[in-house]
Amino acid sequence: MAGIFSFKCSSCDKIHEGSPSFGFNAPDPYLDQSEDVKEQGKLTEDLCFYTDEDGTHYFVRAVMEISIDGVSEPFTWGVWSSLSKSSYDRYVETYDNPDLKDCFFGYLSNYLPYYKNTYALKLEVQPQENNQRPQLVPHESEHQLVIDFKNGINISRAQEIAEKCMHS
Ligand SMILES: [Zn+2]
Repeated sequence: MAGIFSFKCSSCDKIHEGSPSFGFNAPDPYLDQSEDVKEQGKLTEDLCFYTDEDGTHYFVRAVMEISIDGVSEPFTWGVWSSLSKSSYDRYVETYDNPDLKDCFFGYLSNYLPYYKNTYALKLEVQPQENNQRPQLVPHESEHQLVIDFKNGINISRAQEIAEKCMHS
């Protein structure tokens, strides 16, 4: 039977309960921009763009779910994906009423803790019903995050990743 994830933390000694969920408030490259560029761009809970010398860069907030063996709720990463302008426009236009057949190509736009360089992993952004954030499906790769997405992780790995996220 699938259960609830909980563990005694080796870092703070407390019991942490519930499947871990860690989010990023912005795509990492946005945070590197000057105040001017940030002000002229846009950052909400779900959308982001900014313009630099290379042009305008578009991003959406999404989720990547990694199943944990024997646990009902997945390990959830709230991360950003880049999108092309046309995909971003389509995403914004259909935001309140997404077409579930849509699927947008993007690049992962955050450096996740625990994993080595997750930035710019290729993926698909899949809109969801009921105002849920879109789901990310990474392209086939030897990257550990992609392998974990495909195969899921065991409880001790989930604990290791969660501790790293919470306490570093
Ligand atoms: Zn802890």
